[in-house]
Amino acid sequence: MKVLAINAGSSSLKFQMYEMPEEKELISGLFERIGIKDSCYSIKVNGQKIKKEVVLSNHEDAVKYLIEELLNNNIVSSLDEIEAIGHRVVHGGDKYAETVVITDEVLKDIESFYPLAPLHNPANVLGIKAFQKSVPNAVVVGVFDTAFHQTMEEKDFLYGVPYEWYTDYKVRKYGFHGTSHKFLTNRMKEILNKEDYKIITCHLGNGGSISAIRNGKCVDTSMGFTPNAGILMGTRSGDIDFTIIPYVMEQTGKSLDEVINDLNKKSGFLGVCGISSDSRDVEDGMNQNDPRCILTHKMFVKSVVNYIANYYVALGEVDAICFSAGIGENSVVVRKDILESLSALGIEVDEDLNNVRGKEAVITSASSKVPCYVIPTDEEVMIARDAYNLAK
Ligand code: AMP
Repeated sequence: MKVLAINAGSSSLKFQMYEMPEEKELISGLFERIGIKDSCYSIKVNGQKIKKEVVLSNHEDAVKYLIEELLNNNIVSSLDEIEAIGHRVVHGGDKYAETVVITDEVLKDIESFYPLAPLHNPANVLGIKAFQKSVPNAVVVGVFDTAFHQTMEEKDFLYGVPYEWYTDYKVRKYGFHGTSHKFLTNRMKEILNKEDYKIITCHLGNGGSISAIRNGKCVDTSMGFTPNAGILMGTRSGDIDFTIIPYVMEQTGKSLDEVINDLNKKSGFLGVCGISSDSRDVEDGMNQNDPRCILTHKMFVKSVVNYIANYYVALGEVDAICFSAGIGENSVVVRKDILESLSALGIEVDEDLNNVRGKEAVITSASSKVPCYVIPTDEEVMIARDAYNLAK
């Protein structure tokens, strides 16, 4: 069965097509700058990467070119061969704990969550609607970033605010990157080969989150009501004292929107080091003894260590810790410094084993009390699996 996995952003659309259940990737690509000038797309097919500059006025244009590429590259000979399409949907509120087939009612629900994810859900819906028009016969499913975290208990997902904020306005912790944390959990379960297990999964990318997992279920996670909470990120602050916001408004004369924008887009690595949101640039700066880059690295490591230590205690010891996403899979120095800071838990990083990038590996010594791993995440294959299972 040919299955498409789609991740639509406000000006981008990422896709992968798989032959399922073999999980063989047939073609993948990215449409960029949709609705703005200099739009283009790149595709990877038959071991080749091709980039084309085209006018993409909206998501429907992107879908039109995507379909042309599928036909021209003989990936499908008719659109009916695309039997299932899985869409990443960022926010499923507290209603969706599983992937579902997208009906009119589900679509309305996703739209009703716009206030909870104003940047993401509208873009996801644009993607869903564009495909509904062009490929009307495929089974369409929504894979929610929040779904995996719906197993958290009330004591773990509630904030200490008036209870009515939760009952009336849905103010609570939702958690994000759920598809990645679920992928990591499934893979760790296979590696540990046991039913009864406790792990900590660290998705450390441009956005980052850490989850505590007991027997396949999320117990707690570092992101919150929005993806701004938790650890220090590329451009997001992570956890802060909320009273900073009115104070900075008063001091700078900035509006609420401007301060929120600063916290979202000008904070994190970028805000602290002042150079870049990219961890590679922070590492380069560290190697040149740039004090602000060294500080950024230390603050990032501390924020991750705090969550891991917290979850270790909450779970009562763990069977494994794993690192994933751009930084978690690739940054040797970040993993080393995180694990060395956790030596009180009996964790011993092995510098040779830890010298690994982008592939699965154990990175701690045999005597380490907790084995730690690098596990490359694959959110797209998770979307394709769910789409395949529901279409089947
Ligand atoms: P993601 O959001 O998962 O794509 O991750 C993006 C982050 O991963 C950026 O901060 C990158 O700097 C970081 N990253 C990607 N490759 C490397 C690498 N080889 N070494 C260090 N960091 C990397």
